[in-house]
Amino acid sequence: MNDRGDNDRGVGRRGFLRSGAAGAGLALTLAGCGAPERKLIPALIPDDRIIPGTDRWTVTTCALCPGACGIRVRTMAGEARVQRDGREFRQEALQVKKIEGNASDPVNRGGVCARGQAAPNIIYHPDRYRRPMKLAGPRGSGRHEEISWEEADAILDRELAPLKATGRHPGLALISGPSFSQRCRAVEALLRQAGSDLVFELDHPGYPSLREANRRTFGLASLETHDIANARYVIGFGAPLLEAHASPVAHARALADMRQARPGERGRFVQIESRFSLTAANADEWIPVRPGFEADLALSIAGEILRGGLVDAAGVSARVRGFEEFRAMVLERFAPEHVSAGSGVPAETIRRLAREFASGQPGSAIAGGAAIAHESGVMTAGAVQALNVLVGAVGVQGGVSLAIFPTGVEREPPERDWQARFRSALPSIRTLVLFDSDPLGSMPRASSFGKALERIPFVISFATCPNESSANADLVLPDASFLERWDIALPEAADAAVVALSQPVVRRMYESRDAVDVLADAVGRAAGRPPETGSAGFMETRARSEFAKLVGSKDGADDAWDELKRTGFRAVESAAGGSSAADLSWLCGMTPSREAAAGEFPFHLVPFPTAQFGFGESAALPWMQELPDPMTSVVWGGWLELHPGTAKALGVEDGDVVRVESRTGAVESPVLVTPAARPDTVALPFGPGRRSAGRFASSRGANPWDVVEPLTVQGAGESAWAATRVRVVKTSKRARPAKLGDDRGAAPAGLRGRVERRDA
Ligand code: SF4
Repeated sequence: MNDRGDNDRGVGRRGFLRSGAAGAGLALTLAGCGAPERKLIPALIPDDRIIPGTDRWTVTTCALCPGACGIRVRTMAGEARVQRDGREFRQEALQVKKIEGNASDPVNRGGVCARGQAAPNIIYHPDRYRRPMKLAGPRGSGRHEEISWEEADAILDRELAPLKATGRHPGLALISGPSFSQRCRAVEALLRQAGSDLVFELDHPGYPSLREANRRTFGLASLETHDIANARYVIGFGAPLLEAHASPVAHARALADMRQARPGERGRFVQIESRFSLTAANADEWIPVRPGFEADLALSIAGEILRGGLVDAAGVSARVRGFEEFRAMVLERFAPEHVSAGSGVPAETIRRLAREFASGQPGSAIAGGAAIAHESGVMTAGAVQALNVLVGAVGVQGGVSLAIFPTGVEREPPERDWQARFRSALPSIRTLVLFDSDPLGSMPRASSFGKALERIPFVISFATCPNESSANADLVLPDASFLERWDIALPEAADAAVVALSQPVVRRMYESRDAVDVLADAVGRAAGRPPETGSAGFMETRARSEFAKLVGSKDGADDAWDELKRTGFRAVESAAGGSSAADLSWLCGMTPSREAAAGEFPFHLVPFPTAQFGFGESAALPWMQELPDPMTSVVWGGWLELHPGTAKALGVEDGDVVRVESRTGAVESPVLVTPAARPDTVALPFGPGRRSAGRFASSRGANPWDVVEPLTVQGAGESAWAATRVRVVKTSKRARPAKLGDDRGAAPAGLRGRVERRDA
């Protein structure tokens, strides 16, 4: 940042707020005047222009991760100045000032994480798409030019012409975001109305593997919920509970309750993970396992539970299929001494964990994160579930439950390997719609998906802010942010069944429109339907009707809807629990995948989600760039974690830039030496190093997706992003990561020169 507090592109936090506040004024002005307004005085709305006493709190649902926390948003009337025809006007405008948790919501009970707090950054992001954009250069050039909505609609009509001509458009394809949002379901329904079955769902990382393991074990391809608050003993196998697994806010509260809410009884939490994550730091014990050996460890613990006669014998004999087969397999193949040699976890620790877990019930074992991002990730998730089955933790208070979901909701779990179907359908895809999804930004750069995208004649991306996929699209349509639109969310991994409402808290900025409304209009035009009339858009109407279906009342539906708008959620009857009958036989035919022998790539690469960036989707938000990483205090950039012994062997120290090379890619990153790392691993956070994520995130740090090999979790179809081996090569460069309280940092681009001079 420069002396004014701005970064080198002239937009710092203050500048960002200035642009946001100004933009809010524009949104209201447009609505009020009904004419496009382009000239706007980019002035901060100062405090003395805020009209005191006119704030408003609106309940809605955070959509920044699958947690679907209930939030309260404080808006305030302010004053912006706009110019039209050379004259200046003053205009009252609603602006988002603050986000808090909704204390009544059973999902998060008033909590909200840093990412949720930073959601106003999305509305007022200076790189936000303001108008439709069409490609103005070759694909991948990222060059787009603004066009009008009339022109954009004409392009949509052209792309939907087969629908108009024949009533079907089998070449129309969709990649949508995760399933917890009814917006995604609405768009998928629209595609099907258009005669297309090329609907693909890009699920949250790790969810496909968990679903598949649960399908094989319990016959239900859903996520599970862990009743941590009422547990006495919880073992995490890599699950980033406090960073990006299901609902980090709910997990934080549940862990606190587990330890403090029962007088005289304190639950115990053990995290088995190769890296010392935020979750590991909050555990009572961290066990640094060698990457890829988590399934071995879980099955070895299972063997010790069996060997010690610690199983829930009655439950197992009544409800578990394949038990004897499973028992013979784990006793024969996963003896503690044998597993210890590979995993690096002492045999006595394995035995102790087995005793503690079995005697510490109720409790549960939770798989996730890097532990299941190996080719045999489904096996790892299943092995961890087997622990729950053996000790009778399924379907009990303090244990694990499946399918806590509103009764009557039809849920089709995402298909197991959507990429395989996408590849085979590729020759027939003429137009691809990207909706709530950024596949190029959430897959290995070396995967074939980028090449596949190049072969599709026309790509349309609905996006609020730039991302890797929108930068490569032929047409970018400015989507409303979740604070400006309607939706119904059904949080799948919450410990209560709720219907959660997203409703607009401010008017849409610029010329953004809800993508669902845009697609509904386009499909309607192509199908020759008259345009929707009435004040409510398609998505608002659909959200309302979905809610009426869910609560099952025609009488009083209006009252129930009004009540939902006041409360933000509605607790509903649950089809909870699923069945505790389990099948463990499928695990007997599985073998943990092993990465290729070390050879010239001696280190395991451990990419990891963070509390501020998630899996990278929040990296564009400046408040998240400015938030110190909870484990390292690094701000505004990326880092590579190295064990001190490894750093010494490589001859590098904090701030040296190294090159991390895999078989399929390479990145450069400054080193951060930390004793909380295994010597055979190097760790990179997801989030830094993105290419097209706006001015705050692009080209800042190293992106793990650039070096991760394009391996797949077998049976789940998602990326095996923790299965890459790398080598580390020292360079002659230095760029010490910027840390809170350390002015020698280098990350904000405007500081780099000064820092490098100091270090030199
Ligand atoms: S955990 Fe954070 S990002 Fe996720 S829904 Fe809750 S507030 Fe939003």
